[in-house]
Amino acid sequence: MSRFRQLFRNASPGETGSASCSIMLIEDSAAMALMLKSRIEAETRVRVDWYKTYAEAKQALDTTLPTLALTGMNLPDAPDGEIVDLLQEADVPTILFTAMLNRKVRERAGATNVIDYFIKDATDTVDQIIRTIQRVTDGDVSSILIVDDTASARKSLAEILDRQNYRIHEASSGREALQILETAGDIRLVITDYHMADMNGQQLTQEIRAKYPPEQIRIIGISASSDPFLSAALLKAGASDFVYSPFVAEEVRCRIGGNIETLNQIKRLQYLAERDFLTGLYNRRAFFERAHAQIAALRAKGRTASLAILDIDHFKKVNDTYGHDAGDAVIRAVAKVTQNELPETECLAGRLGGEEFVMLLGGMTNDEAIDVCEDVREAIADAAVMHDKTLLKVTASVGVAVMQFDESLDNNLNAADQMLYMAKDQGRNRVCADAVFYRTT
Ligand code: GH3
Ligand code: MG
Ligand code: MG
Repeated sequence: MSRFRQLFRNASPGETGSASCSIMLIEDSAAMALMLKSRIEAETRVRVDWYKTYAEAKQALDTTLPTLALTGMNLPDAPDGEIVDLLQEADVPTILFTAMLNRKVRERAGATNVIDYFIKDATDTVDQIIRTIQRVTDGDVSSILIVDDTASARKSLAEILDRQNYRIHEASSGREALQILETAGDIRLVITDYHMADMNGQQLTQEIRAKYPPEQIRIIGISASSDPFLSAALLKAGASDFVYSPFVAEEVRCRIGGNIETLNQIKRLQYLAERDFLTGLYNRRAFFERAHAQIAALRAKGRTASLAILDIDHFKKVNDTYGHDAGDAVIRAVAKVTQNELPETECLAGRLGGEEFVMLLGGMTNDEAIDVCEDVREAIADAAVMHDKTLLKVTASVGVAVMQFDESLDNNLNAADQMLYMAKDQGRNRVCADAVFYRTT
């Protein structure tokens, strides 16, 4: 099994730069090495071990097998890029950085273990190196679908990508491609040939776009055709990019990397737009959007649901006594406890604003929902927040309403709010539920 495959296989989902990953950094300039080491270790979870020379690296490779190597091309004791050969022999996936870009460097960069190379003095070189490390050590591997009716064309593309920590799927026709998109469910990029028997690349692109928006799946067209209008036709149909073949591997790799990076950025922005900055819970708007969809799904399945509002008791006192930062720490802790107590499926938690939280409790009976709210309340009362050497303790009150599917979400929230008001009125640190009234009437 190649090291690339091992790297891919060992990665666990959702982990960016697994802590068990290590990078062998080979660079003779201390300033450059220390800057790289500190930035990489700050921005990824990867450990960096620094070696100054070819000899040091060679000796280390006798006893250690790093996840990746990051190396300059020319070292004082190996001026001709020999380090690339050494790392290739040891089968270590390698990122190169070089002061000069000439044919010799390009040839070296074509070695099977080289993931990518970067020019040393470009302003964003370090950013690019870090993004590449993140992608290669990321357990959340991106899936790519290669569509071509010629097996050899699929194979040569797959070979280019084999060094890049992607999961590769192959389809020999448009139909098969659409089927794989459906069943695999996690494909982020489709690279499609233009001329195929059952449908051409433009038709396939249109079919994909009818179901999947560009922020979910990117499409790159590839064709050996001499027709200069093909690229525009595909781009108009919804492709994100186009490459005429024969192509240089480096170009295809750049285009693929760029498209995956765009998707990653969209994902990061979506995450930030949906989350409350202080607690990481869904913000009010995102909670409402998701709750609407979840409620419709629960209703369709004929399930019950409850809606709860939680409000920290006498929170103003925390701010007034210990300061706003202490208040923030308390809000964060309450959010964490609430999230931890909530079952993962069919439930949602969000921050409504201030010290007020909202929970949608699906996948359980109304009595079970009350029990979950009791658990949350108890866990908050038991928790202690350490802030500036002061132990802070708070309680919270919760109002729970049985979800009335015929009513608007706002009306349901109002019902929960009335129950919250009752909990506050009855002395706080308690759960009040309207299910109790339904039972007696
Ligand atoms: P009750 O038990 O009736 O809920 O009383 P309370 O003091 O918790 O409620 P009140 O609504 O009077 O006060 C809430 C306070 O929360 C007022 C506001 O300054 C503070 N607050 C709102 N958002 C934040 C925040 O993000 N951080 C901090 N530290 N305080 C916040
Ligand atoms: Mg309050
Ligand atoms: Mg309040």
